[in-house]
Amino acid sequence: MQRPVLSLVIPMFNEELIIAELDRRLRDFLAELPEVGASWEVVFINDGSADQTLPMLKQLAVSEPRYKILSFSRNFGHQAAITAGVDRAEGDAVVVMDADLQDPPEVVRAMIARWREGNDVVYAVRAKRHGETWFKRATAALFYRLLRAMLGGISIPVDAGDFRLMSRPVVLTLRALREQHRFVRGMVAWVGFKQVAVTYERPARFAGETKYPLKKMIRFAVDGITSFSTVPLRMATWLGVSSGLIAISVAVWAFIERILGHVVQGWTTIMIAVSFGTCAQLLMIGILGEYVGRIYEEVKRRPLYIVGEELNLAPPAAVTSRLSPPV
Ligand code: UDP
Ligand code: MG
Repeated sequence: MQRPVLSLVIPMFNEELIIAELDRRLRDFLAELPEVGASWEVVFINDGSADQTLPMLKQLAVSEPRYKILSFSRNFGHQAAITAGVDRAEGDAVVVMDADLQDPPEVVRAMIARWREGNDVVYAVRAKRHGETWFKRATAALFYRLLRAMLGGISIPVDAGDFRLMSRPVVLTLRALREQHRFVRGMVAWVGFKQVAVTYERPARFAGETKYPLKKMIRFAVDGITSFSTVPLRMATWLGVSSGLIAISVAVWAFIERILGHVVQGWTTIMIAVSFGTCAQLLMIGILGEYVGRIYEEVKRRPLYIVGEELNLAPPAAVTSRLSPPV
């Protein structure tokens, strides 16, 4: 069977309120896309939804063989869902987008144009974000800048999510990266190739609630930082050096106090020094723990996701990646 020109990869977690509208928008869009003709596929990943998402998707896929479904055995998370889609999408260009229509299909047209010009990755930068709380916007802005400051070498685009087009060479390269705690947008930046941005205004979620509550957002941010930077570990060294310098000055001062005979005073100083020292140590042990925990997860070498059920998909290719060593 011929490979499609365009694959859309759409992760879905409890998105029953969105499906009908998503289907309508996708059909409208794909019907009027002369750039790819009829040569497209949409890979939906059902990330362990507890609602009607899977039966509704199946119903659509029965009459449209280009709608393909991967259904996880449980919720493995957004990044795992994207990974699964990228592992199985066959298009010459693969576009990852959210199900909630915050990544409008119409932007894909601009992405295809840039791809046809010879770019390998076309990522969408959010010029404006509608319908998101100021808290989400502010923390996102802060996070991208913090991450960029920690990275040095590779540059992860600021204010871009996972909405992006990738050429097949990038997709095949990405398949070789099997790390457990995944920060896909960083990994795509890391692989290199020719990358360009298109800007768009991000509309509000079409219906339903965000599937990224604060707790998941924090985990995601920690994954992003720890998978690309060891700056937090190095903080221990700097903290150690600066507290060493402070300790020397305090020692001099304490010695002078001793000579002047004021030795009984100083309870406040000791309390501050002890609590500050304890805090710094626990913080650094925590950071160390984050990295050690990730090493532990990594050595277990568990699969990144488990597919419980699939529909309309070709069997997985024997060699899925162009980098994977022969087994
Ligand atoms: N999603 C997923 N698994 C999860 C959480 C989210 O597949 O555990 C999907 C979700 O269905 C949506 C996309 O990831 O298609 C982005 O989620 P959401 O729109 O809730 O995030 P936000 O736009 O609020 O950051
Ligand atoms: Mg959303």
